[in-house]
Amino acid sequence: MNRRYRKTVIAGNWKMNKNATDTKKFAEELKAIMPKTKWCEVVVCVPAVNISTAARAFKDARVAIGAQNMYYEPAGAFTGEVSADMLKNLGVKYVILGHSERRQYFGETDVIVNKKVHAALEAGLHPIICVGESLEQREMGITMELIALQVKSALYNVSADKLRKCIIAYEPIWAIGTGKTATSEQAAEVCTAIRTTIRQLYGARVARSVTIQYGGSMKPSNAAELLAQSDIDGGLIGGAALKADDFVAIINAANQD
Ligand code: PEP
Repeated sequence: MNRRYRKTVIAGNWKMNKNATDTKKFAEELKAIMPKTKWCEVVVCVPAVNISTAARAFKDARVAIGAQNMYYEPAGAFTGEVSADMLKNLGVKYVILGHSERRQYFGETDVIVNKKVHAALEAGLHPIICVGESLEQREMGITMELIALQVKSALYNVSADKLRKCIIAYEPIWAIGTGKTATSEQAAEVCTAIRTTIRQLYGARVARSVTIQYGGSMKPSNAAELLAQSDIDGGLIGGAALKADDFVAIINAANQD
């Protein structure tokens, strides 16, 4: 983390978990043990149908609401989809875009991710843009090129001003939901490379202002070490964000003086 230049953001990705009743219960549990978050922003990215419930339940807490996906068109005949404006209108601040599960199971490409980034920014949302390599790609030694390509495609035609509203989440696919975390060295190496790519595109001042998260089996036992890396400015957390006490332990790791 480097708090002098950028915000630390701890975001939970609930994926397709928790109904409205569970959402209210979680909010009560979290609020009961949530520390004063002096140093970091806390976000819960809930299923779209639970956004209103979450927005109400967290109204009196310092927890921002995030969505996990959206469509890039503003309105129209796109059955089953949700627009950026609809999310914004419900009080959503962040939206996860290009998560590897969306790329893998729902055919989301770099081009689609870029369109979604533009639509989200246009609506005033903060995109959390996910990038990451598979185990095969890591073993082939193409991680850095692949991540640079994903970052450049996602940010294609995004202005420096708008980039300041984006978060990049480095999520090695082999570490998501597997319990297998990237070592802090592996995670830091890629996060630093992401900042270098942004520096090449936008210059040093902009690059140092961008929040870069790590995601992939982050949990209470490894959060502090990962967050101690200067280019890791927070976490995108799946499994460990589903339990209030685990999530708070990670928040505490990010919230140290
Ligand atoms: C994720 O879904 O973004 C994620 C990082 O999941 P997990 O923490 O469970 O690996």
